[in-house]
Amino acid sequence: MTFNNVWTIINLDNTVSDGTVLGWISAAGIPSCLRFVFQSPFSNLWTINTDYGGRVPMPIAPWTIIVSSATDPRFNWTVGGLSTGLMHQATVGHWAGDSDDEIGARMWHEIIHSYNIPADNMQSSERAGFIEYLRTTGSRHYSGFVADSNAYADGSNHTQLLIAFYMYLMHKYMDCDCFRGGLLRAAYCAIKRWISAIRSALGL
Ligand SMILES: [Zn+2]
Repeated sequence: MTFNNVWTIINLDNTVSDGTVLGWISAAGIPSCLRFVFQSPFSNLWTINTDYGGRVPMPIAPWTIIVSSATDPRFNWTVGGLSTGLMHQATVGHWAGDSDDEIGARMWHEIIHSYNIPADNMQSSERAGFIEYLRTTGSRHYSGFVADSNAYADGSNHTQLLIAFYMYLMHKYMDCDCFRGGLLRAAYCAIKRWISAIRSALGL
C-alpha cells in the first residue's frame, strides 16, 4: 500500500476556525509527515450509531477526519473519537474544557488507528519498546513511567505521555514513511522501499 500522508479535515463546528484546529494539531506535536487540508462541512458525511460510541458523524471518503463539538445536538457523543480502521476514516469530538494538546492527541490517536496501528494500550506488548524509546530519547516521562506506570499514565502527565506513545508508535510502524531526515537516512529508506517492492513483486 502506498503511504497516504494527506488527511482531509471536516470541521463541523462553525465557532471553531480552521486555524484553531491546526493549533490543536501542532499542540500535540503531530509530525509534519502528516499533512492536513480542509473540506467544507456536510459534503462528505454520514452518521454512525454504536452501543459504545453513541451517534457520531463519520466521513464518507477515506483519509478524512471529522472534528465536531461533542455537545452538538445533532449527535450524541459518548466517546472522544472513533475510526473505521480499514476504511481510514476518523471522527473526534471536543468538549469545552479540553486543552489544545488533548484534542490534538485525540485526533492523532484516531489517525494512528486508521493506519491499523494498535494505539490503545501502552501497557500491552508495546510496553517494553515504549520504555526503551522513552529512555533512548531522554524523555522526562521515563523515570515516572518506569516507577509506577499506571499511576503515571493516569495522572497529570496523561496527555503528554500519550503524545510520546503516539510518536513512539509512528517511529516503530511508520518509520521511513515519516522520518526520512538526512542523506544517510534517506538512502536507507530508499533501499528499504526498494527491497520491499522486490519482495512483493516476487510474492514473498
Ligand atoms: Zn483507540
